[in-house]
Amino acid sequence: MATPSLDSARAADAAIEKAPDLLPEALPGRRPSLVGLTRDALKAQLVGMGVPERESRMRAGQVWHWVNFRGASDFAEMTNVGKALKAQLAEHFTLERPEVASRQVSRDGTRKWLLRMAPTNRQEHNRGAEIECVYIPGPDRGTLCVSSQVGCTLTCSFCHTGTQRLVRNLSAAEIVQQLVTARDELGDWPGQMPSRDAGGSGEVGRLVTNIVFMGMGEPLYNLDAVVDAVGVMSDQEGLGLSRRRITVSTSGVVPQIPRLGEQANAMLAISLHAVRDDLRDELVPLNRKYPIAELLAACRAYPGLSNARRITFEYVMLKSVNDSDADARELVRLLKGIPAKINLIPFNPWPGSRYECSDWDRIERFSEIVFNAGYASPVRTPRGRDILAACGQLKSETEKLRARARLMQEEGIGVESFYAGADD
Ligand code: SAH
Ligand code: SF4
Repeated sequence: MATPSLDSARAADAAIEKAPDLLPEALPGRRPSLVGLTRDALKAQLVGMGVPERESRMRAGQVWHWVNFRGASDFAEMTNVGKALKAQLAEHFTLERPEVASRQVSRDGTRKWLLRMAPTNRQEHNRGAEIECVYIPGPDRGTLCVSSQVGCTLTCSFCHTGTQRLVRNLSAAEIVQQLVTARDELGDWPGQMPSRDAGGSGEVGRLVTNIVFMGMGEPLYNLDAVVDAVGVMSDQEGLGLSRRRITVSTSGVVPQIPRLGEQANAMLAISLHAVRDDLRDELVPLNRKYPIAELLAACRAYPGLSNARRITFEYVMLKSVNDSDADARELVRLLKGIPAKINLIPFNPWPGSRYECSDWDRIERFSEIVFNAGYASPVRTPRGRDILAACGQLKSETEKLRARARLMQEEGIGVESFYAGADD
């Protein structure tokens, strides 16, 4: 593999230095949606609308229940809220979710939605930013893969998302809205009967049980929003997911890793992908700022780490790049002493990508070495091939998506969504 030129190295450095503060601002004249707000933000909105401070906690609690526990999409559903207040709410706010710009269902039940966020002031005057969100049903869990940013400022050389033009942070509400929309789409609210074709048993029970932050973006560059979103998703009087079933994946923003543990108490996944700094510098340019030794030191110190709460290390299998027996042995050596799981991810090619996926017997051999050293080493099985539901390939503009889908179909390239093995 060629060493990157000085210019591209400088460009990558600039991207690394730029910890983006690109929060969306509401467009003037638009009623904001209450969906996805934290309890505090919801209360503040109600007070701002004129609800007296002394009532605000109780009122916010009522609205919270309808929005986050029952999934109400209309204020009229809020039967225990007075008529006057309901009218006032409807005048100031909406319960809008992102628009579902396209829906695809794979033969294996994987679903992919292209979600269009409400437009904000930032380069999105007429059309909101688009992100992809993927649901992967499994025998004992349903995993939703969410995005934390539109695009990504980092430029990992094997990842399509990093080439996207428009980049901004998603707000906490926009992150939560991905789960709310998935529940709407799947009929996954209490009292609803999830349909069998959505992977449900036809009995009342939750389809989405796990969340992985493995869609678009670097979650630790948008940590405040991610912390708030995890808080809303895991509120037991609301969306009700367990924090142990929420996994945040990072390319290695070392200084933010302790905060993720302390403030979100979420499970940690590390996109490792290489066992030597020279190679990782090239695959994950952020490594030049936070090399492997520093990253692993942060992992060893991760709050709450134990055998019951292990760190997942993601390792993308790139043919003749990082997939030798020696790499596998070095991986095992590096992770010694860290309660860990290793997820081997078959590389998902995209047009213009310079890598190939390792051959299957190579992946198996690599997996065997890791397994024999005592680590679970599941290879993420191909899911959703027919609808191109792959991570690292997510790029949101509809047109590009269509063009890419066509191209890849023509080339007969399959895709894998690999989060099906994400753990609880
Ligand atoms: N930015 C975060 C989370 C989003 S990427 C991170 O990098 O961890 C989610 C996962 O997809 C990461 O492990 C990433 O390395 C992997 N990925 C990116 N592009 C890929 C591709 N083309 N094939 C397979 N996995 C890929
Ligand atoms: Fe960004 Fe993650 Fe893709 Fe790297 S792998 S470019 S950090 S989304």
